[in-house]
Amino acid sequence: MMNSVAILGSTGSIGTQAIAVALKHGLRVTALAANTRVDELAEQARLLKPDMLCIADETRYSALKEAAAGLGCRLLAGMDGLCEIAQQQKSDILLNSVVGMVGLLPTLTAINAKKPIALANKETLVAGGALVMNAAAKNGVPIFPVDSEHSAIFQCLQGNRREQLKKIILTASGGPFFGKTKEELRSMTVEDALRHPNWSMGSKITIDSATLMNKGLEFIEARWLFDLAPDQIEIVVHRQSVLHSAVVYQDESVIGQMGVPDMKIPIQYALLYPERLPCPTKPLSLTDYGTLTFEKPDYETFECLTACIRASMTGGTAPVTANGANEAAVAAFLAKKIGFLRIGELVTAALDTLPVTPLTCYNDVVRADRAARDFVAEQIAG
Ligand code: MG
Repeated sequence: MMNSVAILGSTGSIGTQAIAVALKHGLRVTALAANTRVDELAEQARLLKPDMLCIADETRYSALKEAAAGLGCRLLAGMDGLCEIAQQQKSDILLNSVVGMVGLLPTLTAINAKKPIALANKETLVAGGALVMNAAAKNGVPIFPVDSEHSAIFQCLQGNRREQLKKIILTASGGPFFGKTKEELRSMTVEDALRHPNWSMGSKITIDSATLMNKGLEFIEARWLFDLAPDQIEIVVHRQSVLHSAVVYQDESVIGQMGVPDMKIPIQYALLYPERLPCPTKPLSLTDYGTLTFEKPDYETFECLTACIRASMTGGTAPVTANGANEAAVAAFLAKKIGFLRIGELVTAALDTLPVTPLTCYNDVVRADRAARDFVAEQIAG
């Protein structure tokens, strides 16, 4: 069992819940990194006494120095700081819960330092899946999924033979706009999109849930994590988010993992694997739910989902393009520069327009990501 953890993205939704899990089980927190929130980071440091603190946004470094004065932590900034924490000797496991493509290099750095990873940064696998899985295999580094669906699949695979797996059922809540037509979606605002029915999450992933981009990213993530062909993944909309995903074996037995929609459960499983200890969450009452529903996704209305599946099948840099275009488009939507439907249109247009090249090194990822973001910026500027 792990005794200590370093957390990238400690002030975000996953990071704060991971700290609750660490405190509950006496895991020492050896390092913390946040993107911009200096005061919350310093507050966490006062409580947890880590060895290192990092602020990813370098312009906030002097603010961090002020806020963390006298705490005795080594203070770091930027990507170099994130990577230094990723390979910190003192931690048994790295929790990577930063948002976006920025999480890839710290993941690769941790793997090269032979550090086990609890992975909540899905863009790591979406953009750099081939690099990450190859490096993990070469270094013998385990990757424990934190994403609730992938944790569910990982849990359902325990004690069974991987070669007898037939397919997986990846569940989707459907987000706040399930059942809506394209016409209805046209007028949806940032506030509408941020109102998720089941999960409380950061704004980027909440918008991704509304467009179903999140499920598309998870489709790509699942292919890498579990070495699956595209036709081995069935996406099913399950509005209650109680069945977190399931696996189907050759004998047509379906094994699913259920629980209340609370990220502390998958976070704890990733940090304490293979232990199952009391978790600071509510028990699941199936009779309180009464009914669980399952439906097909609407691939035409939610074009981000279709775009991701297409990008995954194309391979090479195509998933990087889809992800980079989406990150830029979501930022523009949150800044109220574009409408909701435009996100999917821009992701699809980027895939239609930008060239696909093989992906063999980190720089290939960076180049394709940059091109996708530039493409979206040009389209928005008109
Ligand atoms: Mg998920």
